[in-house]
Amino acid sequence: MITFENVTVRFGDFTALPDLSLHVEEGEFFTLLGPSGCGKSTALRTLAGFNDPASGRLLVDGRDVTALPSDRRGIGMVFQNYALFPSMSVRENIAFGLKVAKRPKDEVHERVHEIAEQVALTPAQLDKGVAELSGGQQQRVAIARALVLRPRILLLDEPLSNLDAKLRNQLRVQLKELQQQFGITSIYVTHDQDEAMSMSDRIAVLDHGRIEQVGTPREVYERSATEFVCTFIGSVHRLGEQAVSRLSQLPGSPVAEGLRSYVRVERLTLRERHRPNDGRLVVDGVVDRADYHGYFTQYAVRLGDRSVSVRVPWSATESAFAAGDEVAIGVAPEDVLQYERSGPE
Ligand code: ATP
Repeated sequence: MITFENVTVRFGDFTALPDLSLHVEEGEFFTLLGPSGCGKSTALRTLAGFNDPASGRLLVDGRDVTALPSDRRGIGMVFQNYALFPSMSVRENIAFGLKVAKRPKDEVHERVHEIAEQVALTPAQLDKGVAELSGGQQQRVAIARALVLRPRILLLDEPLSNLDAKLRNQLRVQLKELQQQFGITSIYVTHDQDEAMSMSDRIAVLDHGRIEQVGTPREVYERSATEFVCTFIGSVHRLGEQAVSRLSQLPGSPVAEGLRSYVRVERLTLRERHRPNDGRLVVDGVVDRADYHGYFTQYAVRLGDRSVSVRVPWSATESAFAAGDEVAIGVAPEDVLQYERSGPE
């Protein structure tokens, strides 16, 4: 449905996207995830027609749209700051594109009401000024304004990042439901990995304008292709050489020596000492801190001169530990993620 074919985007001497190739399937919820400045918005804006690529092609449905003006690409866009017209009512904001397209009055009225209902805006809210609405409501207006034009493609640039955590979670679910209901091919930009993981069919992880990995949330999390992806997503503990060496000697272990090795902190186990090791490497330590987060507890455990974070999910059966407790940390060899020593230490 959407193809970036060797797209290069420059701003003066600076190359924001060196050579981006990417394919998004019809109906897919596809996310560009990466740190600030990695080129996510640039990719989106280039597809929407706001940046001209220095080279490469953009295809929509097999059609080359690289030279088409923005408004002829059939693409809707929603921004972080809503970008609503502040002096217009909610109704006028939503109707704007339809009026520009000179749709008949009755049709405009009907479509505005229909879409407002779908994004949970009440008829009373339609006649308010946008400034009278909360951030979450304003973002619903921005989403309605894009969807009312029935675009085949929806681009969303950090649409939820100005909202508080609870509203963000609510809107995540609603946005995903709308996307599925409309079957609309969507590209979503975020630096929030939680958002990316919970909403996406597939994720492209970007760093410095280059794709590090494209995969399902489970693939990028559990089989991170590069060290960057492994350390960018979730929390990891880097294993020392001695631990790697001992892990490599366990029966049937896939762990190799001489590679940079990580384990996700929630895969580490924390037990009382002298319990059976279940095929794990077990190392004795002492709890320095226990931070209770409700659904998990984060422990700082001292191992000699190192401190290791261990995240233990809430459990009705496992005992909790306190500062000063003598414990054993366990690592299963199959949970170790390994990468070539490419970059600097
Ligand atoms: P953020 O999450 O902070 O929005 P991003 O991943 O979306 O980051 P972009 O906004 O795409 O990153 O920017 C990528 C790089 O290109 C940055 O280094 C940015 O400074 C640069 N850049 C973006 N737009 C322009 C512009 N119009 N002129 C010059 N440089 C730009």
